[in-house]
Amino acid sequence: MVSIIEYVKSLDYYNLNKKLYYFERENKLFIYHIKTKKILLIEKNLEEKGYLVSTFIKDNNSIKLYKTSNLSIKDIKELLNNLDNYKANASINLENYMYHNKAYFFLTNACNLKCRYCYQESKPVKMNFSMSKKLIDMMIKNKRKTETDFQIRFFGGEPLLNYKLMKQIINYCSNDRFNENTTFNYYLSTNGLLLDSDKLSFMNDSNTKIKISVDGNREIFNYYRKSAKYKDVYCVLIKKLKEVFKCYPNELLTAGITNNYYNINFCENLKHAYEVGFRNFYVQFVCNNDFYEKRVPDILVEKYDEIINEYEKMLNFINIKMNLGQEIYVNLLDSFIKFLFAPLNSLCGCSAGIASCAYDDVGNVYFCQRFIGDEKYVIGNVEKGLNRQKIKTIRNYNVMDRCVNCPILNYCNGGCYFNNYKNSKILDNYLQYDCNIKIKLFEKLIYYTFKIAQKDIGFINNIYNKREFVE
Ligand code: SF4
Ligand code: SF4
Repeated sequence: MVSIIEYVKSLDYYNLNKKLYYFERENKLFIYHIKTKKILLIEKNLEEKGYLVSTFIKDNNSIKLYKTSNLSIKDIKELLNNLDNYKANASINLENYMYHNKAYFFLTNACNLKCRYCYQESKPVKMNFSMSKKLIDMMIKNKRKTETDFQIRFFGGEPLLNYKLMKQIINYCSNDRFNENTTFNYYLSTNGLLLDSDKLSFMNDSNTKIKISVDGNREIFNYYRKSAKYKDVYCVLIKKLKEVFKCYPNELLTAGITNNYYNINFCENLKHAYEVGFRNFYVQFVCNNDFYEKRVPDILVEKYDEIINEYEKMLNFINIKMNLGQEIYVNLLDSFIKFLFAPLNSLCGCSAGIASCAYDDVGNVYFCQRFIGDEKYVIGNVEKGLNRQKIKTIRNYNVMDRCVNCPILNYCNGGCYFNNYKNSKILDNYLQYDCNIKIKLFEKLIYYTFKIAQKDIGFINNIYNKREFVE
């Protein structure tokens, strides 16, 4: 009798057009059906009695772990066939996409720190209120008819160096001048050093979500975050955080854990931020020009095992905290769970230029906040409006050739345009050496999502229904 793993391996279509991705762990077989994003967990040790198969189902807004036992290979085959026959509604009307409900306001590129991985390099500029008003009006004027929710993301440099403008923008949007159904949500990314009780109180009243950069322990933090004013920036921030935690709602606060390829201890860094008092975490890799110039893919190859191990440790840490009933939300797991239950999307690439954009101080509209300053990626202007034709020419809406057979295409969508561009001067040229890491991470996310769900599906539902992160 063939085993389930032999059977899955023997599926003709697996090799022909990659409909399945599978891996084994702890005597269990995990099958990810690429087209439908369905995952089956097959417990192999029950072979004689038939297989126990678990899968997630979404019933209204509630996620359940559905289990069936005593399944034969034939039953599983039928299950997979049913998934294959699922017809996704894949037609896209590009015109429906080019409306920005998420805009990064580049308040200033000045900063009170000089971080080692910072990619801001030009001379300081500041946006003013008159320009901001025009940009907000343009955003609302260009909105899709049914759109009512807008995200305003304050970005820099250090945006709090232009706090006055941030306040003016929030007051402008909170006024009755827009339709009563229009809602604005505010997000601030800051190094936290300029926060004080007045600012926190204003931001609390406007429900502003704040992400504060916390890169790790004192040694790591002070190595990466340099200041002309303070020798020990870490200590200044920790003092500040005591005040922040006292008077700011925890659910509106996120720790931004920025790692780079020279500092990959993201689990330790996250644990540290947890001990400091954060419960929401946004873990990301940032590559500075130094990284791109040296083009050090070798670092990734060399550190592949270490990076994968860090992901494992981090997901395990989350799992332990959840098992103890403690609150913890991490963007990687959260966005994965949201991805699994989101409608199928056949559009390739991230939201750059189509659902999100960035505005600079002179009224230019950019493809994304990371392209600010690069004229090639200006997709409009406050006077002339959006240049939709240009958006269509600069970004690829189709699956890139090299991603067509990737099992995690739906999840990754071809990677970050900016990283691709910085590395190769071509938007669609993904960083090959990153892909293996992403696929391995994807496996771990599947594994831990089941592990968490088996203990308490409530955790998965909490994450699924949870607020959004500050990017
Ligand atoms: S992991 Fe690599 S190959 Fe796969 S979709 Fe992302 S960029 Fe493309
Ligand atoms: S994924 Fe990259 S290119 Fe896309 S919006 Fe984010 S930073 Fe910009």
